[in-house]
Amino acid sequence: MGRIIGIDLGTTNSLVSYWEDGASHLIPNRFGEFLTPSVVSIGKNGTVYVGAAAKQRMITQPENTVSVFKRAMGTDRTYNLRGKWYRAEELSALILKALKEDAEAYLKEPVEEAIISVPAYFNDIARKATRKAGQLAGLRVDRIINEPSAAALACQQANPQQDAKLLVFDLGGGTLDVSLVDCMDNVIEILAVSGNNHLGGSDFDRVLAEHFCVKNQMVLGALKPGQQEIILKAAEKAKIDLSYAEEATMRAAFDNQEWSLVVSRQTLIQISAPLFKKIAAPIKRVLNDAQIQPSELTRVVMVGGSSKMFVVQQYLKFLLKNVSFAVADPDHMIALGVGIFAGIKERNEDVRDLILTDICPFSLGTGVINRDDPSKGDYMSTLIPRNSSLPASHIGKYSTSVDNQKKVTIGVYQGEDLYVNNNLYLGEMTVSVPPAPEGKEHVMVRFTYDINGLLVVDLHVPSTGEKKQLVFVNGVTQEADDDLKKQIQELEKLVIAPKEDQNNQMILSRAEGLYAQLTGDAKKVLEGHIRTFTKILASGSKTKAMKASKALMTYMDLCEQLYLQKEEVNGDLDDFQSWFAGLNSAEDDEDMEDWGGIGFLS
Ligand code: AMP
Repeated sequence: MGRIIGIDLGTTNSLVSYWEDGASHLIPNRFGEFLTPSVVSIGKNGTVYVGAAAKQRMITQPENTVSVFKRAMGTDRTYNLRGKWYRAEELSALILKALKEDAEAYLKEPVEEAIISVPAYFNDIARKATRKAGQLAGLRVDRIINEPSAAALACQQANPQQDAKLLVFDLGGGTLDVSLVDCMDNVIEILAVSGNNHLGGSDFDRVLAEHFCVKNQMVLGALKPGQQEIILKAAEKAKIDLSYAEEATMRAAFDNQEWSLVVSRQTLIQISAPLFKKIAAPIKRVLNDAQIQPSELTRVVMVGGSSKMFVVQQYLKFLLKNVSFAVADPDHMIALGVGIFAGIKERNEDVRDLILTDICPFSLGTGVINRDDPSKGDYMSTLIPRNSSLPASHIGKYSTSVDNQKKVTIGVYQGEDLYVNNNLYLGEMTVSVPPAPEGKEHVMVRFTYDINGLLVVDLHVPSTGEKKQLVFVNGVTQEADDDLKKQIQELEKLVIAPKEDQNNQMILSRAEGLYAQLTGDAKKVLEGHIRTFTKILASGSKTKAMKASKALMTYMDLCEQLYLQKEEVNGDLDDFQSWFAGLNSAEDDEDMEDWGGIGFLS
């Protein structure tokens, strides 16, 4: 097998890595740098500039230069460069091609395969676009890995003995990914993910640039593209300066004029209030989804270039008080993690035992008739809920909705909305049913989803025995070839956990967690409830189990209200501002654990 490289295809910068001698290493580009700016520019005679050379041209040739196109992966958006239109995956392919060439020159051997990381929040279409970008660059991309999984993998390699619950906070140039990761010996499990595909360092640049313009009686949007770029660049520089100093001076010069403005960290917090709110939301969501309190976190791992922002670091410390923080070389973490994955895929002895479990970042389900308000379209009936561990397999039973219905069409959707029309449509399949009164005929629908983005939808009509199967690979329907058939056979061996069983198990684990926290009589009463509930579950009676679970949950709610002080993630910005104002930054810097020198860095 040839060499496999790992690629962190970032919004702002991209990196490439490989596995050798028991460690993941970064590969420098042709200029000797690890970071290759994700920028493409086309010259007069069609010359393509990629990376630092293209970034330089953002000021001189803004109309022939593009950046931040990762946000448009998998969309129909196109970019015009010298009269030719390019899709985001074509531009990404140019970056990947440059990275491939740099890797080949450095490793002195051809590279045909890559593992590429993407934000956990990328949907199947964006993932497929990433794979296509790889193909266009001459790289086989069998495996796409979530960026936070890669970061967790790198952390786990650095601290192999540690059993830890990590909150991976990844704020890059254009995306925010927040994930809860459970690391136990050699098992890494993602418990929950959330994020925002439209939030990153460039939003802070824009806010600062607009503030600069307002203070200097200009309107950013009304300036020429090249002038806007000058101000945005000055804003980015000031933002970076503010990572290391209380104040920074923004300067811009064009049309024989010069402007300047002093900005402070306090100003940055004030003018970026909406961005801070957006940062807090996914953090609250993952903690809530995984039912984890902030105090249960072992560590917050900050990755992505924008995690270097002092005000962002402090905001996280404000949100998650008393949790230890690690700023683990934010630029390199993900790429190093993908490099470890390359090592696993190459079946290197030293990493073979590492197990990475992943979760489904979106819910998968089918549509069911909406009689309440037909104008809104069908309801989404979720079969594989968001954050299910992969591989996952769930069965649902669907009944006919009119008398003498002849056919049942099962649509396949991805997303969190109550109505399928607002979710992503992946495909559909129709089966025939014998005529019968409404609700008397059924179709059993099984969704099976694995870590490689393979979704198998099986339909079974019990009354006729008819069976049908639809296979999606990364969101696209596909005829099953031999390899795929083998993969599907593997998945068929999965034990299916019915939904209600899982629900009961969740209630039971909540009860066990609460039991550990309670004391005195409340603990004894809860113990009685748990015993009764467990006995009923073992008896197999569904109605009794439902009643017992309700009683148990009511008692747990009461206990939590009476005896436990719920920790809240407080995101109030006014509170943060006064907290920040009273902060002694020099002292606080010392609390930050700096993992810059840990063993796995090359
Ligand atoms: P990434 O997409 O992870 O490469 O992150 C790129 C973003 O990180 C850009 O918006 C940069 O301006 C920002 N960035 C890089 N270094 C720093 C720094 N020292 N302080 C603040 N922001 C930074």
